[in-house]
Amino acid sequence: MASSYRFSRVAQSLRPSPIRELFAVSQRPGMISFAGGLPDPEIFPVDQFAECAEVLRVEGRVALQYGASEGYRPLVDQLRARMEPVLGAPVAPEHLVVTTGSQQVMDLLARVLVDPGDTVVVEAPTYPGALHTFRAAGARFALVPCDEFGMRTELLDGVLESCRRESGRPPALIYTITNFSNPSGACLAGDRREHLVAAAARHGVPVFEDDPYGELRFRGAPQPTVYGLAGGKGVVFASSFSKILAPGVRVAWAVGEAELVRRLVIAKQGIDLCTPMVAQVLVSEYCRRGFLDAHLPRIRAHYAGKATAMAGALRRHLSPDAARWTDPDGGFFFWLDLGRRDSRTVFEQAVDAGVAFLPGSAFFPHAEEVVLGHGDGTSFARLCFTFAGPGEIDEGCRRLGLALATA
Ligand code: PMP
Repeated sequence: MASSYRFSRVAQSLRPSPIRELFAVSQRPGMISFAGGLPDPEIFPVDQFAECAEVLRVEGRVALQYGASEGYRPLVDQLRARMEPVLGAPVAPEHLVVTTGSQQVMDLLARVLVDPGDTVVVEAPTYPGALHTFRAAGARFALVPCDEFGMRTELLDGVLESCRRESGRPPALIYTITNFSNPSGACLAGDRREHLVAAAARHGVPVFEDDPYGELRFRGAPQPTVYGLAGGKGVVFASSFSKILAPGVRVAWAVGEAELVRRLVIAKQGIDLCTPMVAQVLVSEYCRRGFLDAHLPRIRAHYAGKATAMAGALRRHLSPDAARWTDPDGGFFFWLDLGRRDSRTVFEQAVDAGVAFLPGSAFFPHAEEVVLGHGDGTSFARLCFTFAGPGEIDEGCRRLGLALATA
């Protein structure tokens, strides 16, 4: 039957996220899921959040009104104060915009920096939500491989130079997840942060430093931000309340040069006018009462316990020649190298055994959209340790061990 619609070229190029499809499998009764990258709802501060709703009696007329595209000013000021020690630089109001999730930061950046056919440099593996957004803007991808210390920045000069030579212009953007990457769990090493800043500046390519997991460090010392190392020049830093408070609030923020932030704000006006004011007012009240500062150590300890449980369970149930991994110091994920095994085959066996994870191929662009670099993640698996219940972690790893023994 003829369609009633003539879909745009972009719509035709987009495919449903494989992650969403695998989600359906992970919802089967009895399945233990390490698949979705979800926070633990047990740790959501429901009572405190409900208490914060009292603020609506005072701020209700503001909360229920349209707001500035830049963000609810008290929240903007709280975020500026939170960001200054993290970024090591003062953050003036015109350097910050509140967004509807950090997913929206990607969308806004794509709109203001990426033209169809442009190259975006991504680490491999990377966050599929970013690939989806840049793909929708017509981007192609250049891949920089990663190891347990993050992006291999010693390769960056060569990648940036090849991109410029081949397309006649430098890439539009370098996208990096600097702390506890989704999916690899890796943090970008200190010297690599310096390389990144130097290479990006040398080639005149802006950097998007996506950092939703940085506050979830339970071991080791944090590295300086790329934004701070670059003195804020040419770097956009983003973070989010999704992992440290709750993704349901859909409140995040970006910090960058005033000229760029102004463009992001203008682009945002064409998308949602402003981030929902009700959410911003509640989150601001949650911070004002000191609840976030009290919640962060709790959540770090909670996730440290889960990560330790998964590290122990993996060691107990997976034979050393079946998989290799590095225990993460924070964030949400273990990234397993299954050697010669195809993780999609292991996935089928694992689902039969009653445990789900995400095959590594979900974290790589499609071959036809890659202009430089290669890799398909076939032998890797991402395991999220935050969502499963304490009893489920051991049992899920036991099932995974069985699946690996038969795959
Ligand atoms: N960046 C990374 C690396 C992520 O893992 C996620 C969510 N899983 C996001 C951005 C988007 O987060 P949100 O829109 O909820 O802030």
